[in-house]
Amino acid sequence: MPEEGIDLMAHEDVLSFEQIVSFVEEAVKTGITKVRLTGGEPLVRKGIIELVRQIAKIDGLEDLGLTTNGILLEKYAADLAQAGLNRVNISLDTLIPQKYRKITRCGDINDVFKGIDAAKKAGLTPIKINCVRMPDSSETELIALKAFCKDNNLNLRFIRQMDLESGDFSIVEGGEGGNCKICNRIRLTANGKVKPCLFNQNEFDVKELGAKNAIKKTIESKPEQGSKNKIGKFYNIGG
Ligand code: SF4
Repeated sequence: MPEEGIDLMAHEDVLSFEQIVSFVEEAVKTGITKVRLTGGEPLVRKGIIELVRQIAKIDGLEDLGLTTNGILLEKYAADLAQAGLNRVNISLDTLIPQKYRKITRCGDINDVFKGIDAAKKAGLTPIKINCVRMPDSSETELIALKAFCKDNNLNLRFIRQMDLESGDFSIVEGGEGGNCKICNRIRLTANGKVKPCLFNQNEFDVKELGAKNAIKKTIESKPEQGSKNKIGKFYNIGG
């Protein structure tokens, strides 16, 4: 989250669970088999367990994942797994408690460690750790993170810091993201905009067009590769 805060979305603009679920149903009919809930932070959404339960039971959906900062995972991991979530990705950029607090502006890294344990116990595996390489990350720090992930059976992926506005992005080390040649993802924002690409300003409104039409237009406008996005922010279009 930016230091200066964000423009809050009006409650009535946020999609209801019913709208989200019917969007996913339509997406699955179109041939989409993998769904990931991102954010912001998805675990702060009230009723998230119920949303997971409703999405997980959609016929034809093969994989349901969630990307989280891990802070609330200790509380929710068992219920999420029971509701049908398959796995989690956890954002963790450092193992140094003070640095973690500074990056997240208040987070306690011990909550993340407890969240990782809870996710493992609940079987939300394989667990992927997303680490954004900071310009000031030292090699020693990254080596420590690699060792931590190896010891804890976590898949570590390094992501270079990206910039939507200047179009600065690259392939995720150890993952599939950022590779335009094979990218077949589409994104739905909390207020109902479907986007063909992170680094592109096209978006189609589910509320205006209906899910089926918005998905069709989004897929048709999927660019060969990303360019720039001067209107989007990572905190509302996910990563
Ligand atoms: S097409 Fe867009 S979303 Fe997909 S990898 Fe390229 S820049 Fe990222």
